[in-house]
Amino acid sequence: MSETFKALVLRQEGDKVRHAIEQLTVNDLPEGDVLVAVEYSSLNYKDAMAVMGTGKIVREYPMVPGIDLAGTVLESKSPFYKSGDRVVLTGWSVGERYWGGYTQRARVKSNWLVPLPEGLDTRRAMAIGTAGFTAMLCVMTLEDAGIKPGSGAILVTGAAGGVGSVAVAVLSNLGYRVAALTAPGQEHTHKYLQDLGATDFVSGPEWSEQPRPLETQRWAGAIDTVGGKVLARVLAEVNYGGCVANCGLAGSTDLPTTVMPFILRAVSLRGVDSVMCPIPRRKASWSRLVRDLPSESLEKITPGIISLGDVSKYASELLAGKVRGRLVVGVRA
Ligand code: NDP
Repeated sequence: MSETFKALVLRQEGDKVRHAIEQLTVNDLPEGDVLVAVEYSSLNYKDAMAVMGTGKIVREYPMVPGIDLAGTVLESKSPFYKSGDRVVLTGWSVGERYWGGYTQRARVKSNWLVPLPEGLDTRRAMAIGTAGFTAMLCVMTLEDAGIKPGSGAILVTGAAGGVGSVAVAVLSNLGYRVAALTAPGQEHTHKYLQDLGATDFVSGPEWSEQPRPLETQRWAGAIDTVGGKVLARVLAEVNYGGCVANCGLAGSTDLPTTVMPFILRAVSLRGVDSVMCPIPRRKASWSRLVRDLPSESLEKITPGIISLGDVSKYASELLAGKVRGRLVVGVRA
């Protein structure tokens, strides 16, 4: 008889989504050429929505959520991986379309994996996780647009969140002057953000109002995780020739802006997505994280490890804006 292992499984019952920890065997797992003993996953915004059944994150049920995972290869039919290899997976719609990381065993496609970067263990890889990986893609996007530490201040929105925290820490370590935008009433996060390297703080009622098409120029660039009126205001405040890397929509999917920042200030808006990111850029992002995210910052960003049984409690806290930084999910059998 096959050995059993634990997984958090979402099942649809009528119009409700139920989650429970179930005992599965490898025969229950989907197709794939690599079987991974998962050690850690992480709790991201999308995972919280999937587990709580909000938004349209999950495409098929039953689903094992968890948009990332790190662990050790147990069996492989791929020439690129062998038993014992340490691997990381982020993106490719796992936890949405394909079973994800909240399971002690995962069967996945080898071309979704990257080798665990030298200098990282599986816990640190998931402390970074999809959010941190995306933050680095955003930093690389600003660099692609020619923005350098001497260019001027960079604004990070949703700064105390998972993506924002890593973006603040990486930018400040690279020598950028970093300003952090936090939601109204979140001023208590400023000390945390200052410890990660932010030097300027932005918040205020104007950030939930419709901006004028152009506001006073303040930022060489920005990393936006919020969208909506926040993104519209960021665009109106970016300097001539600046760039905004937008990866998130924690506030809204709307973009109530005008063409003025693009025409009169030559501002560029570049979208960043971790899901379909090509492998060479994926590997480059992980190497940059090893090099440019100081370990002491990562420890500050990751308060601790939660268990599979704690996921739903923290998922509702994350959606209520009560989680700061990153949450690692300990999955190891
Ligand atoms: P978190 O929940 O950890 O952080 C979101 C942050 O945004 C919180 O600090 C929250 O503040 C802040 N926020 C929300 N609404 C507002 C607002 N109106 N004004 C100012 N701040 C606001 O989420 P993540 O950092 O993990 O993810 C952020 C976004 O990025 C999500 O939309 C997520 O889906 C997306 N994302 C996209 C990826 C991609 O590949 N494109 C990959 C990873 C994430 P508070 O807590 O005070 O409400």
